[in-house]
Order: sequence, then C-alpha cells, then structure tokens
Amino acid sequence: MIQLIDPTLLKSTSYINGKWLPQAGNNIKVTNPATGETITALNMACAEDAEAAITSANNAFQLWKDTSIKTRFEVLKKWFDLIIANKQDLATLMTLEQGKTISESLGEINYGASYVEWFAEEAKRIYGDVINLPGQNSQGLVIRQPIGVVAAITPWNFPNAMITRKAAPALAAGCTIIIKPASETPLSALALAELADRAGIPAGVINIIVGQSRELGKVFTDSAVVRKLTFTGSTPVGKILIKQCADTVKRTSMELGGNAPLIIFDDADLDKAVDATLISKYRNSGQTCICANRIIVQEGIYQTFIDKLTAKVKQFKLGNGIESNTTHGPLVSEKAANDVNNLVQQAISQGAEVNIGGKISPLGACYFEPTILTNLDSSMDIFREEIFGPVAPIFKFSNEQEAVDMANDTEFGLASYIFTNNLGRAWRMAKNVEYGMVGINEVAISSEMIPFGGVKESGNGREGSKHGLEDYTEMKYICLGGL
Ligand code: ADP
Repeated sequence: MIQLIDPTLLKSTSYINGKWLPQAGNNIKVTNPATGETITALNMACAEDAEAAITSANNAFQLWKDTSIKTRFEVLKKWFDLIIANKQDLATLMTLEQGKTISESLGEINYGASYVEWFAEEAKRIYGDVINLPGQNSQGLVIRQPIGVVAAITPWNFPNAMITRKAAPALAAGCTIIIKPASETPLSALALAELADRAGIPAGVINIIVGQSRELGKVFTDSAVVRKLTFTGSTPVGKILIKQCADTVKRTSMELGGNAPLIIFDDADLDKAVDATLISKYRNSGQTCICANRIIVQEGIYQTFIDKLTAKVKQFKLGNGIESNTTHGPLVSEKAANDVNNLVQQAISQGAEVNIGGKISPLGACYFEPTILTNLDSSMDIFREEIFGPVAPIFKFSNEQEAVDMANDTEFGLASYIFTNNLGRAWRMAKNVEYGMVGINEVAISSEMIPFGGVKESGNGREGSKHGLEDYTEMKYICLGGL
C-alpha cells in the first residue's frame, strides 16, 4: 500500500490543457521494481491526445510568450515552493516506481526543484546586444525570443530532475511544453503536473502525456507546430529522434549516453579517490549517464586501490529503497538487470575476473549485486558500452598519454573525472580529454548552476546555468535604419 501524506498526488492519466484525461481503460501497470507489486494502472494516451496537447500548447503559447517576466517568475517560484513542500510524497512515489533509495529520491527532489528556482530567476536575465553598425544611419539590435512549442522526452533514471531542467527554462523563456516521461516512471511526472496546476501555471503551458513512446514521439517530431525537441535518453534513440526531426528542421537538444572515465594517478589522494569512486559508480545503482563507466588506475596504486574499493563495497546493503538502512536499491526493471548481467557474463567469458558480486542477487530479478571486475583491457565490450548498473570495471594504465588515449577512445563525451595532486597534470588532462564536463578531484559535478551536457555522440545543448535558456530562445537581428 502506498502511504502518501497527500494521496491526491498519485495520478494515473495525462494532464493536457489544464485537465486530466478521463480513464479510458487503455491501461498498463506501473510496477515497483523492489517488490514486483503493481503501484497503479496507468491510462495510456494515444496519438490524437498528443495532437490535442500540441494544439493546447500552441494556443497557450500565444498568451504565455507575452506574459510579464514577473508573472513567469512568480508562478515558477510557486511551483518550486510546492515541490519543496511536498518533497516527502514526491520522494516516496519516486522510490516506489524507480527503485532508488529514499534518501537518493529526496536528494533528487531538491536537485530537480533547484532548476525551477534557478530558471525563475534567470527569466529576468534574457539579454540581447546592441551593435554599432559602420554607417551613420543605422543601428543593429539582437533580441532573444521564445522558440515556441517544445516537446520533451525524458528518461526513468531521474524521473523528476530531467523534467524540471527542461520545463523550467522553457517556461522561463516564454515557451510552452509537452512532456512525455518514461513509461517506467510516469507517477513522478504526473505529480509534478498536479503541483504545476496548483501553482497557477496556465492551462496548456505545461502538458504531461503518458503513452506509447514511439507513437507519441512521432507525433511530436512530425509536427510543424513543435519547434523544438529536447531529449534525455540513450544515444540510439537520440539518433532516431534527430533523424525524425530533420523533415521539419526542428531545433534539438540531446542529452545522450556516456562512457565516463574516472582516471586515478599514482599521485592522487587515494582514500579520497576511493570514496569518490564509490559515489560516482554506485549512485542510483549505477544508473546515471555521468556514472564512472571505466575506472582507469595508474599501475603504482592499482592493487591497493582495488583492495580498498572492494573492502568498502562489501559494506553496501542492497535492498528495497523504501527501507532506511538500504544503501543501494534494485535496478529499474528486470530487463535492466538482465542487460547488466549479459554485459558482465560476456566480460567474464572474455577473461574478466570478478572481485565481488558479478550476478543477479537472490533478493529478486531486478537486483544486481554491486560488482568489481578486474583483468580487463580496452578490446573488451565492457570498455565500450554504457553499463547502467552497479558494476565497476577497473583498467590499468602506465603514463599520462596512455590515460588521455584511453579516455578518448570512445564515441561518447559526457562526463570525465581526473584524480591527481599535480596541478600541471590536472590542467593538461582537463584540456586534452574530449568531454563536455571534467571533474578534477571531484565527482559531484552537477548543479543547476553549471552547463550540463556532452560532446561527440553524447549529444548537444547545455542544461542549467546562464546558458540553459539559450536552448529555448531564438536570436533575432533587427537593423534599425533611417536614423
Ligand atoms: P533508456 O535506455 O534509458 O530507457 P531510452 O532512450 O530507451 O533510454 O528512453 C528514454 C526515453 O525515450 C523514454 O521516455 C522512452 O520512452 C523514450 N523512447 C524510447 N524509444 C523511443 C522512440 N523510438 N521514439 C520516441 N521516444 C522513445
């Protein structure tokens, strides 16, 4: 049984044009990965509902784009306040549908809310340029205007924050938005819609539609009214969506997969590097796109590092995330656990050694044991693939150039981490790795204040920071002549 302080936050149907769609009996189950129990039956919207959402977002855009900055600030701030006031319930819903521990869920609600607060303020800072043209009689002006109706497709690993960091800048810029959350985690999204409604965000400005992803995604990408698609998810799906957006030459922001290297040099503070690896690798049971995917350790400390890391992983308590003594929850689904298992078994067949873990846990089909693999090299699939599970593959290197080459030997380029106490080396490494983000002696790199995003096949666009609004505005040049 679900115990919510405010049970009306549990919704099971889409929110379009300020109204909840009726239950039409077209249901799928939302299940709790920790127990396999059904949380609720989710009413699936269809293509016609997506069309209606686009129409409502377009109608709302005609008014919202001209609302005062003060109005946008006030409703976003109200939304932020309501998210914080209801964080316990939002966290409970998240743990139930996603599996992460309750403390991780609470952390995500605060993190997700921080984007709403940040962009409420940033709405006041949409600046332009004045250009002194060479002639005497004209002046150049550059203004930024909202791009229009935005469609967002979001993943299940951060069911709250991946929505707020798209919706908040869109609304702050004057855009309206239709969001399709992952089918695994719709309840966190729908609860956010309920709070947006209570905050007084006008009908049609924010719409959350739950349904079959390919069907709804195609309606968004084919629509000439939708001027921008923002997506967080896997690189293969991102590529499909970019292709689908070509026909209408839509703007896209893509936050795709990663293959983050975490490089530890002999001269690093070893204990700090071990603790940082535990956080970066095993946070959300390894299901984040910036999780360390390859741990690359210099040969002088290689064995000591493994021994220290293994001792700490032994202390983890795998279990149901709703229980307070659980340190690591299940993966989001049985399929997720099977995918991780396949990758690990393949690595073992290619010669990997299992230091700890290495299999699906007896706790249940969604639980994968926290794992450390050694005796690996860069020819193995585990070096190339995004693991998305609690598996730490440890590779060895000898010198700085080799570390750079290994880090860059991937099509991905999202986050990277370097541990060294040599300042010159830290700076050289930061410049030479082909990643959108570099953590030097730090893995907690994400915040609403920084530009989050990747290069290469990890995507384009930046979320958060003063740059986060740029993805939701168009630049317009005005030549003011005859002066
Ligand atoms: P993951 O592997 O993390 O589930 P996906 O890229 O498969 O990542 O999913 C991220 C989001 O993209 C989810 O909301 C999912 O429903 C959606 N999605 C998956 N395939 C498609 C598609 N072909 N068109 C539109 N959306 C899709």
